[in-house]
Amino acid sequence: MGFNIAIDGPAGAGKSTIARKIAAKKGYIYVDTGAMYRAMALYLLREKAAPDQINEKCEGADITIGYENGEQVVYLNGENVNPYIRSEEVGRMASVSSPNPRVREKLTQLQQKLAADADVVMDGRDIGTCVLPGAQVKVYLTADSHERALRRYKELSDKGEACDLATIERDIIERDRQDMTREISPLMQAEDAVLIDSSHMSIDEVVEAVVALCAT
Ligand code: C5P
Repeated sequence: MGFNIAIDGPAGAGKSTIARKIAAKKGYIYVDTGAMYRAMALYLLREKAAPDQINEKCEGADITIGYENGEQVVYLNGENVNPYIRSEEVGRMASVSSPNPRVREKLTQLQQKLAADADVVMDGRDIGTCVLPGAQVKVYLTADSHERALRRYKELSDKGEACDLATIERDIIERDRQDMTREISPLMQAEDAVLIDSSHMSIDEVVEAVVALCAT
């Protein structure tokens, strides 16, 4: 096993920004597991899968990842789907389809294989609890829901996308509820994870806090 850093937490806590920066600093590979669940969700949306068809339809999705110019690229049946997986619709479908046991089994296997072969910073919802229970460093990164909604609102507004703060906050709360209450691999802090509340911290402060944990 390589050196594994597991970062879990709710939607919009800044996991991917932090994980990407730590990976660059340490020379590790960044693995964004949410992108894999999103690629699966995109497939299911394209297939117009009803909730009771997810189990059977997910078998048609072959999800792999690669790296281009240092960025993770997710391939869905050979197609680079990075440009299509960031929409709110795909995010919502990812939360609906990710509780499915077969979906989780397929993606967990892929994630464990990646971490077995390399030093990784992996972010998601169940990395410290289920995917990499033996990770050397585990972090549960959170921030209050209003702060997380504000960050998302700013990100979308900066891209020129029309959005509404109250709707974003409602969506975030609903996704957290689904992720935290599902039966299999719910979002929760692993017993041995360090809690970091980034509500009043800068990105660099969070990065430094996690890097310091790697040295202990
Ligand atoms: O992190 P991101 O918002 O891209 O994740 C999208 C959805 O994928 C989450 O809301 C969650 O339902 C699911 N997910 C998961 N387990 C992970 C990563 C993501 O269930 N390890």
